Amino acid sequence: MSKQYVFSFEEGDGKNKHLLGGKGANLCEMTQFGLNVPPGFVISTEACLEYQDIHALPAGLLDTVRQYVGQLEQKTGKGFGSAAGPLLVSVRSGSAMSMPGMMDTILNLGLNQETLQGLITQSGDERFGYDAYRRFIQLFGKIALGVPDALFDAAFEDIKRQAGVKADVGLNAEHLKEASRRFLDVVREHTGKPFPEDVYTQLEYAVKAVFDSWSGKRAMDYRREFRITPAMANGTAVNIVTMVFGNMGNDCATGVGFTRNPGTGENEMFGEYLVNAQGEDVVAGIRTPKPVLEMQQEMPGLYRQLVELRDKLEGHYQEVQDYEYTIEKGVLYCLQTRNGKMNAAAMVRSSVEMFREGLISKEQALLRVNPDQLEQLLHPGLDPKHKQTPLAQGLPASPGAASGRCVFDADQAVILGRSGTKVILVREETKPEDIHGFFASEGVLTSRGGKTSHAAVVARGMGKACVAGAEGIQVDARARSAKIGDVVLREGDIITIDGSSGNVYLGEIPTIKPEFSQELRTLLDWADETATLKVMANADTPDTARVAQEYGAMGIGLCRTERMFNDVERLPIVVEMILAHNLEERQAALDKLLPIQREDFKEIFAIMAPRPVTVRLLDPPMHEFLPSEHQLEDELRALEQYLLSVRGRTAACNAMRLDNPGGITEDQVAAIIARKNRMLRKVRELYEVNPMLGHRGVRLGITYPEIYDMQIRAILEAVADCQQQGIPVLAEIMVPQVITSQELEFIYRLVNKSQQDIESRLGLKLSFKFGSMVETVRACTRAGELAKIAEFFSFGTNDLTQAAFSFSREDAENKFLPLYTDHGILQDNPFEVLDVKGVGVLMRMAVEQGRETNPGLKVGICGEQGGHPASINFCQKIGINYVSCSAPRVPIARLAAAQAKLKEK
Ligand code: PEP
Ligand code: MG
Repeated sequence: MSKQYVFSFEEGDGKNKHLLGGKGANLCEMTQFGLNVPPGFVISTEACLEYQDIHALPAGLLDTVRQYVGQLEQKTGKGFGSAAGPLLVSVRSGSAMSMPGMMDTILNLGLNQETLQGLITQSGDERFGYDAYRRFIQLFGKIALGVPDALFDAAFEDIKRQAGVKADVGLNAEHLKEASRRFLDVVREHTGKPFPEDVYTQLEYAVKAVFDSWSGKRAMDYRREFRITPAMANGTAVNIVTMVFGNMGNDCATGVGFTRNPGTGENEMFGEYLVNAQGEDVVAGIRTPKPVLEMQQEMPGLYRQLVELRDKLEGHYQEVQDYEYTIEKGVLYCLQTRNGKMNAAAMVRSSVEMFREGLISKEQALLRVNPDQLEQLLHPGLDPKHKQTPLAQGLPASPGAASGRCVFDADQAVILGRSGTKVILVREETKPEDIHGFFASEGVLTSRGGKTSHAAVVARGMGKACVAGAEGIQVDARARSAKIGDVVLREGDIITIDGSSGNVYLGEIPTIKPEFSQELRTLLDWADETATLKVMANADTPDTARVAQEYGAMGIGLCRTERMFNDVERLPIVVEMILAHNLEERQAALDKLLPIQREDFKEIFAIMAPRPVTVRLLDPPMHEFLPSEHQLEDELRALEQYLLSVRGRTAACNAMRLDNPGGITEDQVAAIIARKNRMLRKVRELYEVNPMLGHRGVRLGITYPEIYDMQIRAILEAVADCQQQGIPVLAEIMVPQVITSQELEFIYRLVNKSQQDIESRLGLKLSFKFGSMVETVRACTRAGELAKIAEFFSFGTNDLTQAAFSFSREDAENKFLPLYTDHGILQDNPFEVLDVKGVGVLMRMAVEQGRETNPGLKVGICGEQGGHPASINFCQKIGINYVSCSAPRVPIARLAAAQAKLKEK
């Protein structure tokens, strides 16, 4: 045998998990740094692959195994197959990737009629001996000989019935002796052969069985499900480990522990143990284990050894460990260790404390925490103890959980919200005119739209829970109800939505509050010191700017100005502007909007000073500010009816010569009808088949320059006011939907004109920047030209993804995208995770071309992907300067930006 297939724990390379499997590598490593691990050896994954290939064990393998068993005999002073001091071993599977419970393990191997007597003599406990024996026959019979478990179980149940006991512990040595005998019969009857007495035959069968379990259905399904590729794990190793027993008396025990509290991260002894028991007893819940602190009284010497073991494990692995141990006759053995899985709070706390204790570096502390895990700490979550099944499911559009009474329109949300009632706004889809309803609600549920739909984006910006596109729900806003299968939800019914999973539940489910701990603040401060990418927030109002600041945003990367129009007092002015018959009328409406926008900008600049604020000029198509055609038609029908009844009432009053005191007059109703009819005509006039590819963005600014002119003036006047008050303002004006430099030049002329007016009027020099969104494919291909005018670029990856894929961002996510990811056609939803292979190529090209003509060009990203860790990694790679995301994702992005920098090294 030329290749080395077998490695003792003293020989194996503890870092080579691919060759030795995770468990085997760790056993080697623990042995080599001086922990008391029961002696053993590993048969490598290469042997497994060879076995799969040739359907036989590699030539010479069994001879080598015999030599290594010989070494075990020397180390332990026991004999494999010997009646005097028998050596028993466990045969355990273990591949490079953990696949819990998917492959097989056999314990107590080496027992036969003779060695059993030796074990009984050695332990002085007949019951213990027969218990180990019957367990071995069953496990070996099932795994290595293919005997159905049910046959053993039936025989065992029979024995318990005859003995009149319910639990295994009630059986005495005689019963277990009888069980062993019956089990041997089961094997003989099922296989037609006696149970193998020769211990090396047992070992050979066991090794083959473990190798076979690698290609068993359970393991193959698991690898497919968790996308474990051969590059990640190829074949299982076999670990042959000397058995140690925690159940040979009161100086024996078995236990499991974490090196720190996995719930809080606190640096304390954590775990449970059982005296005179086997590991299986702890797992099976046959006896209730005791908290490890009790060991301090019960076995003080061993407790001290356990503390020492824990310190050594953490000191060596520089990571919290989840470990298993056994105490046999007063000697502590470590059987297994692996990195401990902890919740987000515990990860953060232990990272900060392990750095302070000198155990890990700051870089390690930052790299340990998965940024996505922070999500748990930033939003209320559903109490994990709840048992409710969901009523419906939609897209997890904005994380967090919320309960409240259903309302079906924004006005009702405000009315109930003001009276202190918690409400959930339920809509087919939301529009800018619903915005007051968002503020008044705990969360938003829609039956249409994707993760970049209006509802999703607005809710994320506000940090409110949102489930979008729950297509199983039929919302009837007019009837103030919704149907989900047979269930009808009416206004006032309580529901709970979980924006982290997309689930919708009937009734109220308790939620758990988020906490922004001191440790998290510290970790994020370290992240900011490390990262080179800046993290900005998408925020549109003074309130959301304040929230962004609390989350540690270093500026505002996207202020969507249209959001400022969405206020009950402002929207009518915007509608007036849209309905204007001519420029004069439109200008009159814009003159009313200018001071409103200016005051908002001033407040936002002041809140964020001295950090940058990027203000985007109007982007959405105009029809978004008007009700839908349907809604207007419905309202007009109702108003016509109402007009008839008012006419009837007026006629009756006239006939009876009565006044119509306080009632609405015919003329007033007619005026409302006329206005609604005007709106309806406008809505029909504005109709576009593809509004997202239509009259929006800079196209609006070119067709209605007075609108952009008003916004530009409002921004520059706000800058001037701040400068005069000594507020260090860093304003940036950004143009959306650009495809050519001529568009930018057109808008820049408007900017220049306002700038000159204000500067000469106030005698000051305005300081601001002018830049372009890059969210069309053409903008990417013309970036060099755009960068001659633009001082900065911001990738609008929501629109850029839509354009690159030809997927409607409103519809794709609840029509075909889930199927695409399920079938592995696309690995991720590109509206969530930046599509590096397609959209990323366009971005890289735009950065390179832009910097060629303008080396100082600042580049950012403000699409939803800007808050996603993998996307942030890519942004770092292509030299982007900042990412901008919704405020609650800012902490996640801060940590991800630091990790992106560290990984670059
Ligand atoms: C984008 O397209 O990525 C973007 C940020 O703009 P919006 O979502 O407002 O179109
Ligand atoms: Mg866009």
